[in-house]
Amino acid sequence: MTARVVDTPRVAYLVSNDLVKVSSLLPSNKNRSILVHSLVKSYGLLSRPQMRVAPPIPADINALTMYHSRDFIECLVDPRTCAADADSIRLEQFGIEEDCPAFRGLSAYVKLVAGAVLTATKQLSSGESDIAICWDGGRHHAQKSRASGFCYVADCVLAMLALKRMRIPTPVPPSTASPRKARVMYLDLDLHFSDGVSHAFHRSNPPSGPPQILTLSIHHAAPGFFPSSPLAALPDPDDAALDPLTLSLPLARGASNASMLRVWRSVECVKDAFAPDYVVVQCGADGLVGDPYAVWNWALGGEGGFGWCVQNVCQWGAKVLLLGGGGYNSPNVARAWTYLTSIALGEPLALDTDIPDHQGFPLYSPSFTLDVPTGNARDENTEEYLHSIEQRFVRIAEIIRQRVQVDD
Ligand SMILES: [Zn+2]
Repeated sequence: MTARVVDTPRVAYLVSNDLVKVSSLLPSNKNRSILVHSLVKSYGLLSRPQMRVAPPIPADINALTMYHSRDFIECLVDPRTCAADADSIRLEQFGIEEDCPAFRGLSAYVKLVAGAVLTATKQLSSGESDIAICWDGGRHHAQKSRASGFCYVADCVLAMLALKRMRIPTPVPPSTASPRKARVMYLDLDLHFSDGVSHAFHRSNPPSGPPQILTLSIHHAAPGFFPSSPLAALPDPDDAALDPLTLSLPLARGASNASMLRVWRSVECVKDAFAPDYVVVQCGADGLVGDPYAVWNWALGGEGGFGWCVQNVCQWGAKVLLLGGGGYNSPNVARAWTYLTSIALGEPLALDTDIPDHQGFPLYSPSFTLDVPTGNARDENTEEYLHSIEQRFVRIAEIIRQRVQVDD
């Protein structure tokens, strides 16, 4: 692939009043959406010349069933699902209970969130945008026929299925050979393992066709920590059953910029081997300092920080789709996604900049700045463990490279 790093990227930002309204009703993240978009707007990022604000086109049943089962989608969009006397057995069957309760606006939410990421993929594949942002997407736990972990619709999976059908955005030099199919890399930075996405694309036996999708989830894994999955463990290149296109990079408690900086070599190694045309980044912010989960000690700024990682991805030369995800300290999530938006625009805000005066201003107490600095928790990722990750990923990258070469 011919990498093309764009100095001033053209950015599409997916938002509409309807999307913000229904996303703000999400029970796990009440009012987070309005806070995020308000902060992004208050810094003037939506009126930059390279920014295109794109309203989502709601997804219809056909688009949603490109991945989900029809009966699950019919239940999600059925107005009776949100009624007080809803059929509890039916809801239970589809996981619409406990941490994924039915809520007013669920039907519109599902159509608009899926529609937003699908509209974003069109912005990228049409060549209108280099980076597309959909902070209301990134629901990485939703399954084919079941809501799970605060996630109702598998927008990440739908986006990747759409992108793999699209043409290669950066044409290879003129050649008589027929163009290969697009390659899509999914990188998940959320504290939790991307079970919904990884399971959707995991294959026990390599498919006969050329590889088109690779998933890599960096997450916390520990006994009892959600979600439990055999795919959440560190992959073993000696395992004959390894799917080198479904990868996990689990980190221990207290993961900080230093650990992220160290494992980033492995991320780059995988990226270089796979040479993606499109990169979908799930930017869950629950690994940041100050999140109620309080597991990692990851900062927004600095080398190895959240912004540094996303800035690197934006400079890979692929088309990039930035999605949201977890994050339960809403002001910190708004800080993070605002900063990432400025990075996508190629104009990173200074982290010591003051929060502008706007409706959400009092929530940014006591610092009233954009930064989410590192905390005091000890990083429990040992040098020995980080070294073993690196060694394994060097070998896995070689396996990927061999798979990809047959396609080039
Ligand atoms: Zn999470």
